[in-house]
Amino acid sequence: RFSRDFHDNPSLVKLLVVFTVSGGGVVAYSESKSYGLNVVHASEADSKKKRVVVLGTGWAGTSFLKNLKNSEYDVQVISPRNYFAFTPLLPSVTCGTVEARSVVEPVRKLIRKKTLDIHYWEAECFKIDAQNKKVYCRSSQDTNLSGEEECVVDYDYLVIAIGARVNTFNTPGVEENCHFLKEVEDAQKIRRTVIDCFERASLPTLSDEERKRILQFVIVGGGPTGVEFAAELHDFVSEDIVKLYPQVKDLVKITLLEAGEHILNMFDKRITAFAEEKFQRDGIDLKTGSMVVKVSDKEISTKERSGEMSSMPYGMVVWSTGIATRPVIMDFMKQIGQTNRRVLATDEWLRVEGCDSVYALGDCATINQRKVMEDIAAIFSKADKDNSGTLTVKELQEVIDNICQRYPQVELYLKNKQMHNIVDLLKESKGDVAKESIELDIEEFKKALSQVDSQMKSLPATAQVAAQQGSYLADCFNRMEECEKNPEGPLRFRGEGRHRFRPFRYKHFGQFAPLGGEQTAAQLPGDWVSIGHSSQWLWYSVYASKQVSWRTRVLVVSDWTKRFIFGRDSSSI
Ligand code: FAD
Repeated sequence: RFSRDFHDNPSLVKLLVVFTVSGGGVVAYSESKSYGLNVVHASEADSKKKRVVVLGTGWAGTSFLKNLKNSEYDVQVISPRNYFAFTPLLPSVTCGTVEARSVVEPVRKLIRKKTLDIHYWEAECFKIDAQNKKVYCRSSQDTNLSGEEECVVDYDYLVIAIGARVNTFNTPGVEENCHFLKEVEDAQKIRRTVIDCFERASLPTLSDEERKRILQFVIVGGGPTGVEFAAELHDFVSEDIVKLYPQVKDLVKITLLEAGEHILNMFDKRITAFAEEKFQRDGIDLKTGSMVVKVSDKEISTKERSGEMSSMPYGMVVWSTGIATRPVIMDFMKQIGQTNRRVLATDEWLRVEGCDSVYALGDCATINQRKVMEDIAAIFSKADKDNSGTLTVKELQEVIDNICQRYPQVELYLKNKQMHNIVDLLKESKGDVAKESIELDIEEFKKALSQVDSQMKSLPATAQVAAQQGSYLADCFNRMEECEKNPEGPLRFRGEGRHRFRPFRYKHFGQFAPLGGEQTAAQLPGDWVSIGHSSQWLWYSVYASKQVSWRTRVLVVSDWTKRFIFGRDSSSI
């Protein structure tokens, strides 16, 4: 915006300060009458060091910073949020089970502990210029500086970790009338609104009809966040609200709307069935196959699977239907020719496809699995040196190793499905492969592998994935020089030699779905499912241990203890 206004009509710019970070030094410019720029040095960085710019201080960005150990970089962190938020506990913040301040850690505290050259700027990136290796940022809109300060930051390496925004699917009225549960502020707003609903419904002037409307809580989206919020709200009402608002307690209704056939559809069927039954027992009105088409200020309209339309009045709606790409990333995708995609694509090393020295991790990007067949074809043609259309066992062994190193899904598929006999054969022949010359039809093998493509799923948008990607990338940066000399990655599909690093591999440690009433469903690796009170204790232990600092760990555990002893705080502050 600065560039446009400044160039088109300089007189528009009343008071403007532009920070430029270039050539290794952080420089602040202020405008003079003649539009010349007076240079003021804010700080000097070591110009010999390569500059790494990190956008975002969420799960991915923070994990990158925490794990970065190489002091050879000058690191600039840019994020409109000067804290890290432990998002899995946000549903607990909505009802006061945990306080908002207990789930956040200031970024400056996190980076202060590091002995590296790291600087934080509270600003938001609004443009990425990959060609000139610059990012354009402005200070957060909500500061006293009213968003008029802008900065241009040069980078040698850019790490994009700006997460995603909520997805409203352009449903009319959602932006204006619904609550979201994405940021800490959202959770705080929900907490206040819930209490306000009870206070309003307790006023003596209202009719019962109006009270019922105000106490109708609607949650849209049966994913883990929507389900957890519904469970939290139910616990809050049944454990605390009933004692504080006895006159209106019987008018409360919690409705969960899900467009699909079941809630928690990314979990094991046993968990889905248990959750649906539990919600029914708890009196939570679960409506599956119900798609929201419009939200007005008083009513929410749905279309049922039968095609029937219906509307219900509400007091509060929480919209939790998934995520979408942020506008700055959409712009960037256009710039680098990723126009046919919905999410920014990277390769398995988290490098953004179509540009140089730019990495993207967490919810704002996805590893492009669609390329797998192209890569596999390239590997085959390279291995098939004499162009005969056949490979020896030794060559095939190399091909499979190469593919498996890059694509863990292919490895799984090969282990589980019809190709297992080939892998076994190769394993058996190991050590003696040079003598073997069993020939295998490449086309047949490719055909079998092509089935893998349809089974490829992109990684889920979770904190677990984001944090692992952050620490993987930090590890790459830590060992950049070492791996330059001794590459440890797989053979290159195109070109000679090996890749510097091993590709990113996600390790799934399981997932939880808290269902209220001190019961949690846990799905652990190996499809081990556990539901009930014991899993709730596992949930407490895991979430306490995953806190980013001892400060937040102590705060969270003491909030849980306070809740057990005194109940939740229902003040609407
Ligand atoms: P985020 O954590 O969202 O961080 C994005 C960062 O980028 C923020 O610091 C933001 O301020 C910054 N930013 C935004 N725009 C800009 C910009 N223009 N310029 C610079 N910086 C910018 N996952 C799990 O694995 N387990 C769970 O139990 C779980 N529960 C969840 C509960 C809730 C309520 C929510 C909302 C999410 C939950 N998730 C969970 C998902 C998890 O939070 C996300 O997958 C994770 O936060 C993604 O990390 P990220 O770093 O990509 O993005």
